Amino acid sequence: MKKGKKLYEGKAKVIFASSDKNLVIQHFKDDATAFNNQKKANIEGKGILNNRISEHILSALKHVGIENHLIKRLNMREQLIEYVDIIPIEFIVRNIVTGSLTKRLGIVDGTILNKPLIEFCYKNDELGDPLIAKEHIDAFGWASLSEINLITQQCLRINDFLQGMFRGINIKLVDFKLEFGKKKSDGKIILADEISPDTCRLWDADTDKKLDKDRFRKDLGDLVESYQEVARRLGILHEQTSNIRPLKYSKPIAVKIKKK
Ligand code: 5GP
Repeated sequence: MKKGKKLYEGKAKVIFASSDKNLVIQHFKDDATAFNNQKKANIEGKGILNNRISEHILSALKHVGIENHLIKRLNMREQLIEYVDIIPIEFIVRNIVTGSLTKRLGIVDGTILNKPLIEFCYKNDELGDPLIAKEHIDAFGWASLSEINLITQQCLRINDFLQGMFRGINIKLVDFKLEFGKKKSDGKIILADEISPDTCRLWDADTDKKLDKDRFRKDLGDLVESYQEVARRLGILHEQTSNIRPLKYSKPIAVKIKKK
């Protein structure tokens, strides 16, 4: 598959054209941003881990019938994906209260929700991705009410599956963000973007240790080591990690990936 021109560059990923007009190449960068781009860093190895973890999760979702943009992983940093028009909404699924929900409503951090809560945020950096209602999505033509209902149902199915998957490796799926897009080829709405420790909150089930991007947001350190821990528990990293350099070194981190 030939890599074409750059079509779009986001905070953590770049999209390139491919030789097929309905497919594009998604490249995972090592850049990390938080608080609406106010905090930035380059964390060596993060892109490689997110590429691999997201591939693992999206493949597993495909196996249980949840269609998504992943065609295949191409190399350490790139995936071939369906070309979609992203719906400019972040679909946030929450099982445990924390983060912006605690800040916004003052609910105690760590409160377990009786049932998953889905929130909608308008993807707009200048406005800080504001929380919106379903009716805004419909009113401004970002998606119809029936499309939003369909996506919401998919969010709940994805949550059910992922909660089980993470529970099996002793990790609590606290919350996560999903994005959906309309396929360029036939307009069908499918799951897109990535699912990784950058887009999920993942806590160790015994200790509540954060194994996700909050390590960067809250200056907790050991981000790559935590993402590696998630990958190792998912069975996609070999146990042996002696060749992985800690973050303070600037040389590339060697990550052992199991060949498929
Ligand atoms: P919160 O609204 O509490 O900040 O985030 C809720 C969940 O959605 C967290 O798992 C967080 O990682 C994810 N999330 C929300 N907005 C974004 C975003 O703009 N980028 C990324 N990577 N994740 C987000």
